Amino acid sequence: MAQQRIASLTILILIMFAALPDAHGQPATRDAEISLATLKQGNERFAAGRLEHPRQGPQRRAEVAPKQYPMASILGCSDSRVPPELLFDQGLGDLFVVRAAGNVADPVAIGSLEFSTAVLGSPLIVVLGHESCGAIDATLKGAPVPGDIQKVVDAVQRGLEGDSCKPSPQLLDCSIRANVDYIVRKLSAQGAVLPELVKQGKLKVVGGIVDLDTGKIAWRP
Ligand SMILES: [Zn+2]
Repeated sequence: MAQQRIASLTILILIMFAALPDAHGQPATRDAEISLATLKQGNERFAAGRLEHPRQGPQRRAEVAPKQYPMASILGCSDSRVPPELLFDQGLGDLFVVRAAGNVADPVAIGSLEFSTAVLGSPLIVVLGHESCGAIDATLKGAPVPGDIQKVVDAVQRGLEGDSCKPSPQLLDCSIRANVDYIVRKLSAQGAVLPELVKQGKLKVVGGIVDLDTGKIAWRP
């Protein structure tokens, strides 16, 4: 039964990919390495203060209004200092962005990423953590938090269980890295859609940490 479901899902995904026409104007790439290289170049421009703000004018708006072909999906933190379109110097229709405090991968986030990859054909997911993340810090401190903030803390806590970070001045940085690495592993291994795409070579999942001072992203190995 489970095998049948996986087979039908695989066929459905193949149909979706086959049915997607090329974007007119600038076709979105289906090559994760090209997407990653484009994001790295954009981040270098951001860090150097040389933003080009590409594909943000009326022509691009008209191009992508009928359909989107995002070249990458970003699972980032909601923090006001890390907006992906600026960090990567990209434009309209380039990035499919999912954001939540602590860049946690809850079922709604995973479902959104399944849509961007399996349906829209985005070949790359970047899990993007950042320096001084308040959600990770609050989780490490363990103090009571009001309302549904506890749900964020609980989600981050699950990602930090079993990590190798020790109490030290570097604990927060280590935990931010551990959280990103955990989510990269989780997206690559859990659920019915993303691991299958990874296995088929149609999806790459990578992690990165934003340095708030330099704007540079340290990519995880
Ligand atoms: Zn954060």
